[in-house]
Parts: sequence; structure tokens; C-alpha cells
Amino acid sequence: VAAREAARRGLRAYLVGGAVRDRLLGKKPKDLDIALEGDAEDFARAFARRLRARAVSSSEFGTAAVLLGGPKGLRRIDFSSTRGERYRHPAALPEVFPGTIGEDLARRDFSINAMAIALNGPEQGSLLDPFGGRADLEKGVVRLLHPASPSDDPTRAFRAVRIALRLGFRIDAVSRRWIGGSLSAGAFRRLSGDRLRREVLLLFQECEPASADLWLHRLELDRVVSDGFRTRRAPARGLRRVLACFPSGEPVCRDWASLEVWLESLPRDRREEAVRRLSISGERASEILSIENSLKALRAALPARVALSVAAFHCFRFSPEKIAAMGALLPAKLSSRLREARRRSRRIRLSIGGDDLKRHGIPAGPSLGRALAETWKARIDRRLSARRELAFALRRART
Ligand code: ATP
Repeated sequence: VAAREAARRGLRAYLVGGAVRDRLLGKKPKDLDIALEGDAEDFARAFARRLRARAVSSSEFGTAAVLLGGPKGLRRIDFSSTRGERYRHPAALPEVFPGTIGEDLARRDFSINAMAIALNGPEQGSLLDPFGGRADLEKGVVRLLHPASPSDDPTRAFRAVRIALRLGFRIDAVSRRWIGGSLSAGAFRRLSGDRLRREVLLLFQECEPASADLWLHRLELDRVVSDGFRTRRAPARGLRRVLACFPSGEPVCRDWASLEVWLESLPRDRREEAVRRLSISGERASEILSIENSLKALRAALPARVALSVAAFHCFRFSPEKIAAMGALLPAKLSSRLREARRRSRRIRLSIGGDDLKRHGIPAGPSLGRALAETWKARIDRRLSARRELAFALRRART
């Protein structure tokens, strides 16, 4: 429908990017990217009206998405105007200018992403493959398009790792040298913390965390985050365990949990440097920076001879991501006890509150709070049933 509508308006339309790559790999693409030699935003609005769908999210690059309720999982089509790009300095956001489909493919990251299928016109149905993407797909290679590519946009180095891991491909040796050259030339220093953090989190989100770390280390991309990775302790063991250590019944951001384990492998001062480089602030930053102290407290609280309530009390202070990270870093026995403490700390809710004690003549004050806390601990440690909470709390408040 889109191709016909474009032809009616005298516009050339091309299927581009991941959708072409996935089709050639015999996979069903999740979203479709269509590039038009013309005004994509205007076209997307008209196309959406025609299908009674919703057109959204035009951006500074002149792209627009149409959201479809549509057949078997296809939910969105992204329309963009074919364009070229210029980079004023390494890691700058590009200056964009209208261009041909050839220029549009030349601005892309890898040969396997720089292919297009013509959707209308005399070339309809044919593959445009100016950089040998199809051959690279067959060989299982991720290849950058030109030597300046990783300096123009250093996120491409991280994208290369991500797509190589996703597809089980290798990164071409020459491209690796180009990445090394851009690193030595300092191009990555200009990459903003927000963009760097986004790429690292995407890697840990999409890929097996220990493999992501291995690739980052091999390509020396981890040093973009902190030079301390040069002489780090290998975090592989923790990273291999982190996904299995999610506290049950709680949604966990696997990217952040993995990042916390990853950064733990750095010495403390280097970790601070990494947190600054990744522009992490607020609670996440304190969570990451306090991990050594938290682990120390848990090592003392988690052995079987210590009441579970001691660890459960600690657990309130941690996010599910930090619990997962610490679970991955602690020995297996302590780790499973940590998860049990977390589970019980969330499950046990007292059936009584301060008002119940006041009704029985206990005045507001520290002894009331202490009595409730002790009742909760006794419940966590299975020394008390829910039925006997009130009697227990009153006794504690009066002694
Ligand atoms: P997929 O390629 O499966 O869509 P993705 O979600 O990682 O994976 P997007 O970020 O949606 O890809 O990018 C879509 C397309 O835009 C890519 O296939 C690539 O051609 C191009 N692209 C994305 N980021 C860059 C970049 N930093 N430099 C050059 N081209 C890029």
C-alpha cells in the first residue's frame, strides 16, 4: 500500500536497514523502515489517514512512524526521507541534508545494514547493495563502511558488538583496526555520557552479559568508560550469574543489574570515574558506589547462623537490580539466602499497626515503633504466627 501510494505521488520508496537484512536472513523483521526520495513526514501523515492509523514522532531528522494494529505482530512502519550526513567533528551529531538513496545507504553503519529493496519504479523488487552487504551476511561479518566511520559516530563501535552478538557474526578485522585507530585518536572522548550509557545498557539488555563484556574488553571499548578496565578483575563469573539471580516476582532491569556487576570489577576510585563518565547520577549512582559496603554488610548478615530478619532488614534498602547484582557477586549459598530474605521481606506484612497498639494503651513513641519492628522480625524468622502478632507486640511494648 505504501509503495503504491508513493508511486501515485511520484516518489521512489525503498525498504531499508534491518528489515532488508532480516529478510535476506530469512527472519521476519519486527518493524519496517521505508526510505522515500521526498518528504517522509508529509507522506506518513497521508498514509496514516488512508489506513486510519496513527502517525507519530516526527523528529529533527524528518522521520515519522505509522502505528498499525496490523497483521501478525507488525506494529510500526518508520518512514524517513533519504538523506546524506556530514560530521563537523568526531562524535558530533550529524548535519543532515536531503540526498539520494545511494547517499542514504552510504551514511549507514554496516554493510549488512546498508542495503535497500526498491518498492516501486523501474527497479521495483531489486536489491541495492553498494557495499557488499549480501556477501557479508553470507560470511557472517559485520563491516564498517569507511575508516572514519567510528570517529564520525563512536556509537557504531558499540553497535557493531551488539549486532555481531545478536546475529552470531564476527567483526571484520579491518573494521576492528579502524575502531582501534579512532580510539587512539581520542574520538571516543567526545562521545557524551548519555550516548555512551545508552549503548552500554543496550548491549547488556540485548546480549548475554558475559559475552558483551568479553567483546568490550577485546576491542578496548571498556576503556572508554574507565581506564581502570585495563587492569580489572575479570567480571565474567558475576556476569554469567546475574540473570539467574533476579529476585523472584519482581521486574528487574537486566541492563542495570549487569552494569552494576560490570562496574564492581573496578577499584573504587575507578568506579567513581566510570559513574561520572556514564553521566549516572542520583540513586543509581549511590547504589553503584555503595556496592562494596552493601556486600560487606550482607556477608555478615547472610550466613545461616544469623537470623534471616537481619538480612531482610537490609533488603529494604536495595533495588531489585542491586539485589540481582549482589546475588551474582556473593557465593552461591549466601546468594540464595539473599533472595529468600528479599522474598520474605516483601511478603510479610503485619496485620497490626500503631493504632492497634495505641487502642490497647501503648503511647506513641520509640517503644511502640520498636515493638512493631520486633514483631516483624519474629514473623520473618518464623518465630511467630500471624494470629499472635498483637499479643506479641503488646508484650514487647510493655517490657
Ligand atoms: P535493526 O537494524 O534491526 O533495526 P536496531 O534496532 O539496532 O536494529 P536501529 O537503531 O533501529 O537499529 O537503526 C535502524 C537502521 O538505522 C540500522 O539498520 C542502520 O542502518 C541505521 N543506523 C542506526 N544507527 C546508526 C548509526 N549510529 N550510524 C549509522 N547508521 C545507523
